Amino acid sequence: MDTINTYKCPCCGAPLVFSGTELHCDSCDNTFPVETMQQMSEGMDQASRESKYDWENYQPRSYENSNEINLANYSCPSCGAEITGDDTLGSTVCPYCGQSTIVKGQFEGTLKPDYIIPFKVDKKTAMAAFEADFKNAPFLPDEFKSKKKIEEMAGVYVPFWMFDCDCDAYITYNAEKVTHWSDSNYNYTKTDYFKLLRAGTVGFSNIPVDGSQKADDAYMEAVEPYNYEDAVDFNSAYLSGYLADKYDVSAEESIERANERVKNSTISVFNDTTDMFQMVTPEQSSVSFSNGKIRYSLLPVWMLNIKYLDKMYQFAINGQTGKVVGNYPVDEGKKKKFFWKVAGIAYAAAAVVAYFLLH
Ligand SMILES: [Zn+2]
Ligand SMILES: [Zn+2]
Repeated sequence: MDTINTYKCPCCGAPLVFSGTELHCDSCDNTFPVETMQQMSEGMDQASRESKYDWENYQPRSYENSNEINLANYSCPSCGAEITGDDTLGSTVCPYCGQSTIVKGQFEGTLKPDYIIPFKVDKKTAMAAFEADFKNAPFLPDEFKSKKKIEEMAGVYVPFWMFDCDCDAYITYNAEKVTHWSDSNYNYTKTDYFKLLRAGTVGFSNIPVDGSQKADDAYMEAVEPYNYEDAVDFNSAYLSGYLADKYDVSAEESIERANERVKNSTISVFNDTTDMFQMVTPEQSSVSFSNGKIRYSLLPVWMLNIKYLDKMYQFAINGQTGKVVGNYPVDEGKKKKFFWKVAGIAYAAAAVVAYFLLH
């Protein structure tokens, strides 16, 4: 069987004919080197394959030796949050809902994290970061400025799934290059059409996917980024003085989001290599993962809940960088007073102007 005959012209789709050295299209008169057509056919073949997402199963670890069992589980009677903390933890307001005090329960079936990024920002610094942040909030209700209230912030290690993998990808694009020139008689436009094939491997490490349903995804993504170079092997000593949330979104449930993040980042890296062309449109793409690993990690966040007019306002402060995330309400009373004052000044100014005009 003559396989060369099966190549179709990339420009017009007509069958190509081998002309001794090259492949020729009788229909549109283009010629192509055999090697190019072979490469292209292989690439198109790869790019049209179904994407493969292969992750090694997450290996759960449990707490083993007795040193590690100075921990206890607590739960919130109001929102149901399940939190791990120091055995000696006094009464603490629930960091997720701020509504009620968490109560001690059984320490069983709790999984040991693989990695942890220890708190770098202490409570004093986190409080100062919050105070610096609300300075820009207009007409802020006094509740948010109360030292006593701000002091209620709790240091919580939030569970994240970390994904590592190598991503092999094949992407084909259609693209153009347009050139213009003129002579004394005419303006010319030449359009070259290209079929681009990109293949390569992108390595990913520490792609975080939030493992807690209670921690609002938008908040958790806003509080990122973390510097994962500070991640260390988990040791329960790091939990001393802090709380640790337990994941309630399993590794398996998080895989889809990790796949999306890896695929989108890979495609965007590949897209960057097509800058010199115009009208670049992706045609087919296929990715496959290898060395996929999933690890259970804890990341540090200071959480603060402040109630105002029956509504709870939640703030999160990155425990590594001090970045503050949250929305402040406006005190309508303060706003009104301010406008009366401004209106009063304007009225006085108008009265002065009127006085000078009349006299
Ligand atoms: Zn042709
Ligand atoms: Zn709660």
